[in-house]
Amino acid sequence: MAEIMLLDSSTIDKIAAGEVVERPSSVVKELVENAMDAGARAVTVEIKEGGCSFIRVTDNGGGIEKEQVRKAFFRHATSKIRTVEDLYQVKSLGFRGEALSSIAAVSMVELITKTRDELTGIHYRLEGEKEREFSEVGAPEGTTIIVRELFFNTPVRKKFLKSYATEGSYISDLMEHMALSRPEVAFQFMMNGQVRFHTSGNGDIREILYRIYGREIIKELIPFSAQAEGLQIEGFLGSPSVVRSNRNFEFFFVNGRYIKSPLLSKGLEAGYKAYLMQHKFPFALLHFTIDPDRIDVNVHPSKMEIRFHDQPGLYAFLEEKVREALRRREMIPDVTLED
Ligand code: ADP
Ligand code: MG
Repeated sequence: MAEIMLLDSSTIDKIAAGEVVERPSSVVKELVENAMDAGARAVTVEIKEGGCSFIRVTDNGGGIEKEQVRKAFFRHATSKIRTVEDLYQVKSLGFRGEALSSIAAVSMVELITKTRDELTGIHYRLEGEKEREFSEVGAPEGTTIIVRELFFNTPVRKKFLKSYATEGSYISDLMEHMALSRPEVAFQFMMNGQVRFHTSGNGDIREILYRIYGREIIKELIPFSAQAEGLQIEGFLGSPSVVRSNRNFEFFFVNGRYIKSPLLSKGLEAGYKAYLMQHKFPFALLHFTIDPDRIDVNVHPSKMEIRFHDQPGLYAFLEEKVREALRRREMIPDVTLED
């Protein structure tokens, strides 16, 4: 793993400003993204009280070297980018070097980590950035981070949190998106001591859809694939008979990152136009692989928005390919996919 280093001030200035940690779900998002970036094949997330009192994320990724553990919690410290130029070529989910420091500033954090090459791991504990423990421990390869009592030292921010149930549902949605973004990773999500869902990591997106949303969704999925220069789209379109009354079932992933995109939603819906009534929305799950220099992920601290350099082109391409796929489907007599 690359060394963790502090970004220089000109790079820091170019990074979209804003608060990384707004609520428990943002903590979970950052920690799971770190696990993905560390190459984990299995990730377990456990929360209590909507993540407000307890979040634990365990991964079997590369771990953090002993001498780097403290540095990982410095502001603007990252192993993922070095220079301003790297910002335009981001391949990892993280790059801001802010998550661990921001989380540690507003909670009690405990980290246990071990790399493959070291014999023992490190147990590191912080209380609102104050170091309480740094000791060697036996540990499996990978990283566990526990975040307790989020916003314990910032009562105003704590007051803005919603009920445990609502905060928990945000995390639940997030975990679903994470699982769908990486079918090759085995996820387990636990809430208040109960397993909410788990995925096998066998790479089959339909299996994950089935586990999360049940049978109806996967009944009539239409495989979708399209290529253009610097762009590859793979995924599934829902049959026009499986209509939804909101956009929550339009899943877009760009280079492994779940995003919200009005542009992609509109392009998709335009492709479905002949089949859907007004105020009805399709089910779709599309993974876009795009040359990193054709997009900008440095738009918002949550990294949930992306700027595409060729917006009209992408919109038109998606509309056309979706329409084609649906029309082709119409001409084939009903082939129901087996489970
Ligand atoms: P960023 O992800 O933007 O680099 P973070 O504050 O989230 O910033 O993490 C700082 C650094 O700590 C990362 O660059 C990475 O080197 C290391 N790190 C964080 N979480 C993990 C993890 N789960 N496994 C291995 N390394 C990690
Ligand atoms: Mg990160």
